[in-house]
Amino acid sequence: MYGFNWRGRLVETRVLLVSLATAAGLWALPAPARAQTPALQAQAVAPNVYMVQGESALGSAANRNFISNAGFVVTPAGVVVIDALGSPVLARELLEAIARITPQPVKVLVVTHYHADHIYGLQVFKDRGVELIAHEAGRLYLNSDTAVLRLKASREELAPWVDDATRLVAADRWISAPYRFSLGGTEFVVQPAGPAHTPEDLVVALPSSGVLFAGDLVFRGRIPFVGQADSGRWVQALDRLLAMKPQTIVPGHGPVSNQAVDDLQLTRDYLQHLRATMGEAARNLEPFEEAYARADWSRFERLPLFRAANRINAYNTYLLMERSPP
Ligand SMILES: [Zn+2]
Repeated sequence: MYGFNWRGRLVETRVLLVSLATAAGLWALPAPARAQTPALQAQAVAPNVYMVQGESALGSAANRNFISNAGFVVTPAGVVVIDALGSPVLARELLEAIARITPQPVKVLVVTHYHADHIYGLQVFKDRGVELIAHEAGRLYLNSDTAVLRLKASREELAPWVDDATRLVAADRWISAPYRFSLGGTEFVVQPAGPAHTPEDLVVALPSSGVLFAGDLVFRGRIPFVGQADSGRWVQALDRLLAMKPQTIVPGHGPVSNQAVDDLQLTRDYLQHLRATMGEAARNLEPFEEAYARADWSRFERLPLFRAANRINAYNTYLLMERSPP
């Protein structure tokens, strides 16, 4: 929504610049392009269920955009992968990590959402004939200027790991309602959870083991990037996940959680705190700077990426609450 007064325009312009800066990864620190990072190591989180854990950092050439997690589930009839990581080289290393555990081929990959750090490895799976599943709202992103600009910026920021050969990949199966399938006797429930972190959020539940692959709906051990997310619906989505009472959560970022409910609660409380403090400020027409300085961040300020993310999260929430009060 664009305002008609100069202040509104100014605010919208700042939002756009912030979005572009985020999209371009402009605050990523320059780093040597060929720094050595350890090979991906799969860790077991439940019987036949594994994850690889990205670094708690912003994407950079030094970390090859290995800043998000991926999961996989081994069955006697093939492997199901959740998310494709942030560059093709990482996806190839994920396949190698899987091959160290099982000779079974990857059959299906579920995309939790179309953010760069989860999708730039997709082409590696597509080229091997893996069936890709995503929420149909991801189509909008794929066809957006944002996706094109982001990839263009990433080719510079993340070179040589993201380059001209890196491409955006559509799903083979677009879903818009819960989708259940079974492979090798294991049942998978792919559940739409958005619009929350993104319009196309999906989570994957394994009823047999109580594992929930939660994508970026749950950030563990760090402050989430709220971005342009609809935090009100995100809170509602977290409430629905809380009602599922999962035992184990593999989040999109950070370590596996065996206190699934506590971690869902922390992400929920952080979003709710943003909405409460910034919502009150917007209602009282209090300037953002004053409201931000006055708010109590003590519960969250020791979490990683607080300094990088909290202020922009608060600012985006302030604008959101101005536009659409609860
Ligand atoms: Zn992410």
